[in-house]
Amino acid sequence: MAPSAKHFKKRDAILHCLQCSTAHPSAESIYAQLKPQIPDLAMGTVYRNLNLFKEQGLVMSVATVRGVERYDGNTCPHVHFICTHCGAVTDLHEVQVGPELNAAATGACGGRVESCQLTFTGLCRECYQRKESGESA
Ligand SMILES: [Zn+2]
Ligand SMILES: [Zn+2]
Repeated sequence: MAPSAKHFKKRDAILHCLQCSTAHPSAESIYAQLKPQIPDLAMGTVYRNLNLFKEQGLVMSVATVRGVERYDGNTCPHVHFICTHCGAVTDLHEVQVGPELNAAATGACGGRVESCQLTFTGLCRECYQRKESGESA
C-alpha cells in the first residue's frame, strides 16, 4: 500500500472519531480510541491532523479543560457547557445565541461579528446531584 493511502486512512479515522462523538474528545482520548484499530498510530499524528482540521475548519477547539484541549467535530454554532468538576463537555442545543446578542456584539465591536462561542461552566447533573446528596469528592 502506498504511504499516502495509509496516511489518509489515519486522517479519516481521526476525523470520523470526532464527527461521531458528542463527548468533545481530547487528542489523548482520540488516540486511545483508535490505537486498538490502528496499532502504528502515533500521538504526533493525532496532534498534527487535529491542527490541520482546525485550519481547514473541519473541527473546532471548544476549550481547554483542566489543561487539556477539547475538540468538536460539529462546527455549526452551538452553546457548550463545561463541568468544572469532572471535565465533561456537553452541547446545549436548547440554548440559542439570538440575533439580539449578535447585534449587541456588532454594536460594541464597531466592526463585523463573524462567529460566537458561548460556553457555560458549572457542575453537570451527575456532579451536582452527588454534591447535593452530601457525598464529598
Ligand atoms: Zn461533572
Ligand atoms: Zn459541541
